[in-house]
Amino acid sequence: MPKIQKESAPSKKSGFVKIQDGIHVYVGGSGSTNFGLILTKEKPVVIDNDIRCRKEFTTGMKKITRKQPGILFNTHHNFDHTSDNGYYHKMGVMSFGNSFAVEEMYREESEGIWVNQMVGRGPKVDHLLKTLKVDPPKVIFENLLTVEYGGRIFQLIYIDHCHTKGDSVIWMPKEKVLFAGDLLTYKTHPVNRLGNFHNWISAFKILEEFPAKHIIPGHGPMPPTGKKIIQDNKKMFLKLKNETSRALKKYGTPVKAAENVYLKEYEKWFRYPLVQANAHKMAQEIKRTKKK
Ligand SMILES: [Zn+2]
Repeated sequence: MPKIQKESAPSKKSGFVKIQDGIHVYVGGSGSTNFGLILTKEKPVVIDNDIRCRKEFTTGMKKITRKQPGILFNTHHNFDHTSDNGYYHKMGVMSFGNSFAVEEMYREESEGIWVNQMVGRGPKVDHLLKTLKVDPPKVIFENLLTVEYGGRIFQLIYIDHCHTKGDSVIWMPKEKVLFAGDLLTYKTHPVNRLGNFHNWISAFKILEEFPAKHIIPGHGPMPPTGKKIIQDNKKMFLKLKNETSRALKKYGTPVKAAENVYLKEYEKWFRYPLVQANAHKMAQEIKRTKKK
């Protein structure tokens, strides 16, 4: 198993990385989703899941522990963090998530987009999607919930509507590990289909207040210890905001402005093609706040 280095190089390969004793992260290659696996004196705790990589995750997990998971935490509602909840529920795992995340899961299902948005994107599981339904977490919290389990403490903390409506983090105060969900990505462009950039930029201040030793992003390689990941995100977001604002002044409409935002210095980050979609969203937000 590769030990975490000072700064792991962005990798296209997926696999488990050990962060601290008993704290492992499944790092999705090429900026795909990351999941947590925390060993406790009782059963292991899993953070987030995706039906498309169940096999890779469970095969890797079996090399780390023989025990089946006992607890599952969801950081937010997106398919790539919750679509395999049902698999864990069937084995009797108790799951936890934020009330807004649950609302969003039901909304996407009722609008028929929960599964449809994935068809063709993960061809190897298209056959599974036909019968797949949302399976929300069983224990729902609003702002803060502390879970003591197997000698460890997990604090589930709702942050704000940033990447999605129900963005929450999982904070392990003794170990000083912060699972940030998609509030933070590392060397990977964020997705903001359902988000709010204004709140998101403000949320970095909240995240900076955690005395975290290790911060686990929702996507991208493991960052070096400390808060560099927050600073990197903040810098990129502000650059996106400034360039979009400038382009909006010059070109007038969000669509035209977005077409002229490149962020070339972030070309090497995973999911670079998202820059224009993000610039479009940012431009719409800037326009809306100016109208007020
Ligand atoms: Zn995600």
